[in-house]
Amino acid sequence: QPHSSDTPGTAARRILRSTFGYADFRPYQQTIIEQLAAGEDVFVLMPTGGGKSLCYQIPALLRPGTALVVSPLISLMQDQVAALQANGVAAACYNSSLDGDAARQVLARLHAGELDLLYVSPERLLSDGFLGRLQDISIALIAIDEAHCVSQWGHDFRPEYARLGGLGEHFPGVPRIALTATADAQTRTDILRVLGLEAAQQHVTGFDRPNIRYSVLEKHKPFDQLLAFLEARPEQAGIVYALSRKRVDEVAGRLAERGLRAAAYHAGLPAGQRRQVQEDFLRDRLDLVVATVAFGMGIDKPNVRFVIHYDLPRNIEGYYQETGRAGRDGLPAEALLLHGQQDIVTARRLVDNTEDADQRRIELHKLNAMVDFAESRVCRRRILLNYFGQSLEQDCGNCDICLDPPERFDATVQAQMALSCVYRVGQRFGVKHVVDVLRGLDNERIRRLGHDRLSTYGIGSELSEQEWVSIVRQLIHLGYLTQDVANYSVLKLTERARPLLRGEQDLELARPRVRERSRGKRPRA
Ligand code: ADP
Ligand code: ZN
Repeated sequence: QPHSSDTPGTAARRILRSTFGYADFRPYQQTIIEQLAAGEDVFVLMPTGGGKSLCYQIPALLRPGTALVVSPLISLMQDQVAALQANGVAAACYNSSLDGDAARQVLARLHAGELDLLYVSPERLLSDGFLGRLQDISIALIAIDEAHCVSQWGHDFRPEYARLGGLGEHFPGVPRIALTATADAQTRTDILRVLGLEAAQQHVTGFDRPNIRYSVLEKHKPFDQLLAFLEARPEQAGIVYALSRKRVDEVAGRLAERGLRAAAYHAGLPAGQRRQVQEDFLRDRLDLVVATVAFGMGIDKPNVRFVIHYDLPRNIEGYYQETGRAGRDGLPAEALLLHGQQDIVTARRLVDNTEDADQRRIELHKLNAMVDFAESRVCRRRILLNYFGQSLEQDCGNCDICLDPPERFDATVQAQMALSCVYRVGQRFGVKHVVDVLRGLDNERIRRLGHDRLSTYGIGSELSEQEWVSIVRQLIHLGYLTQDVANYSVLKLTERARPLLRGEQDLELARPRVRERSRGKRPRA
């Protein structure tokens, strides 16, 4: 406990060392801790792994009374409480996972003034009974973790969070701190407005994670691409994110069949099994966790060497947060995204199902930004940091685009072949069929349709399937072809295609990239 003669700064440092066992503060931590300990409101925007927890945990120990920590996920609370208890801090959680007895015990300790920190879910905190109880308890501070959940603009909006705005009035004079790792300018303004923290001290720290190397590969036989990546990095710890539980199970199963130390993690698995997977991963008994986004909030494993997105994430915030779980130890780490057209279609469909029109518009906007990132030929880090309102003066030198700028080639002839093939099949077929005809595949379907008698049948046999798919995709992105989303993604020519078909225009395209480049060039970290 603090000595009365300490300045807050020295007391904070002593707790950092004696209770948490760290030698020094990370950037920003000390100032934030001093402000909060002095009773000021604070807003913290700091990337995952930046060390946000200490920013309220140490003030909780410096100030008299119990600190309330609002957190959206039970598993997150449990992890934090367990870690605090292991350091000898009196912490507990209060949420729907407790049975009657355990809940009563926590409340008794709270009333006895024995708790330094109480982690609580927003719905518990805001319930009338609980707010009433808190009236005669000394509250040290209120921390609102994952504060982006208050904003519709955030990627993880939770209606209960939006009601936390009332806490300021309910606990006048109690300092509050809101923390998040992901917030674009709009979300950030929203957080401050909803929580009434416009006057708070704001700390927006750098978002760059220079040790993470970002790359994107065009998705083509994703499992093989995944295996190739893993084979080049034997026994390294990594997370593979996939969108659906089904895919998670399938990919994890196939990896395990090949003898890799991999397990699945998603919300459909029994709690005990999830806990086990998390535990095994933390203790290096597992190398790979294949997971939905349910995995990772609060995962604190420093030596995750890579994060792979097997499917396109739905927004950059989520993507950045997930990739941020790699390389927390500061050593070189990698983030690989497999980007496929079908994923965009699936994601758009999901967004279309969103009931609320405003929400739908926001989600679509965010999805489009994600797609632009994946398809861009510009330094990936520049795009990411720019998205979070931080601009980079120069290219980063540690992303796929910087390390290996896309090679361009004169694709006039191939584009003409592809466009005329789309025309010859009557603008009634999708990418795969057009590519099969170009390559002269001999199958029943093609013969039945008479497409083996077209002038474009087999004229592109010198290129591989993936090369053709890449060319056709680029023609779509550049507006020479459209894909009829409402009608089996059938390819159709646009006006722009005419001059190209008539030979009045040349076209350069980027060479397809479906395989990792040689690993000779290591990231500078
Ligand atoms: P965030 O909540 O910002 O994602 P955490 O609070 O979980 O980050 O901290 C990330 C990791 O950094 C944890 O392992 C934590 O123990 C460690 N850490 C935090 N502050 C320090 C520090 N001052 N010195 C060393 N390690 C720290
Ligand atoms: Zn770059």
